[in-house]
Amino acid sequence: GRESCLVGLIGSGVGPSLSPALHQREADRHGLRYLYRTIDIDPLGLGPDGVGELVRAAARLGFDGLNITHPCKQTVIRHLDGLSEDAALLGAVNTVVFGEDGRAIGHNTDGSGFARSFARGLPDAPTGEIVLLGAGGAGAAVAHALLTVGAGRLTLADTDPTRAAGLAGTLATRFGATRVRTVPDDGLPAAVEVADGLVHATPTGMAAHPGLPLPAGLLRPGLWVAEVVYRPLVTPLLAAARAAGCRTLDGGGMAVFQAADAFRLFSGREPDAERMLTDLTDL
Ligand code: NAD
Repeated sequence: GRESCLVGLIGSGVGPSLSPALHQREADRHGLRYLYRTIDIDPLGLGPDGVGELVRAAARLGFDGLNITHPCKQTVIRHLDGLSEDAALLGAVNTVVFGEDGRAIGHNTDGSGFARSFARGLPDAPTGEIVLLGAGGAGAAVAHALLTVGAGRLTLADTDPTRAAGLAGTLATRFGATRVRTVPDDGLPAAVEVADGLVHATPTGMAAHPGLPLPAGLLRPGLWVAEVVYRPLVTPLLAAARAAGCRTLDGGGMAVFQAADAFRLFSGREPDAERMLTDLTDL
């Protein structure tokens, strides 16, 4: 591992992000000098493609790596020198590592983060039939993770049917056409009725997108519900699912495990993700 680390987070509205505290607290426990700065594209007057200029600047200033978030996870790719297998498959990067040779390599730890959180928080949950609500960036990472660990079939629903169809096409090519289907909004009740579990990967439940992403009447005991939103940690959906008697998983685990995987890539040190989970609850 390194003796010190200089890293950052590029995206829109990243000021309140919990990532700096999560990384720096873990680094403190390793006795590692670690500086994690947020770099917001909005006050810089940059759009999603402005990430290229910032990545080049960070490389020249000696940064060890960067996290990348909305709306730059796709646009950053054309500015990098290479991609990990996961990042190439997802077509999205949330972590950039600058090598000693000056090369910038993109990784994606959202899928691995969800997989570890799911295995920890919903151990031996049945995965024969899963409904995935939201086919954007988080949805794609979740879908790849679930199919990779052996989920039987995913049913994708998105208010934008072209997004659901696009992700379904990519997944069918990689995992086989029988393991993925899409349903329109009015097909959701029937799909949830036969599902073992539901993963929610739309922004619904965040302060800017209040409410429930599906009718609470569809929730029943025996259906597990996994949430990707982690601010707030208990979304209206999770509260409704708990009230309905569902096993639930909040989005905090995914957030912590993706951060832990990025910490390992940046520092070369093995993070203690359980300690980082404890940090999340008091941040
Ligand atoms: P995105 O914009 O890429 O995708 C969201 C998708 O949801 C879009 O395709 C949109 O059409 C769809 N959608 C919106 N409302 C819907 C509804 N009511 N029903 C069905 N589909 C709907 O966003 P994203 O990057 O995938 O992020 C989604 C959420 O996941 C955000 O709240 C983000 O903070 C969270 N997230 C959490 C983690 C984590 O580590 N826990 C990681 C990444 C993203």
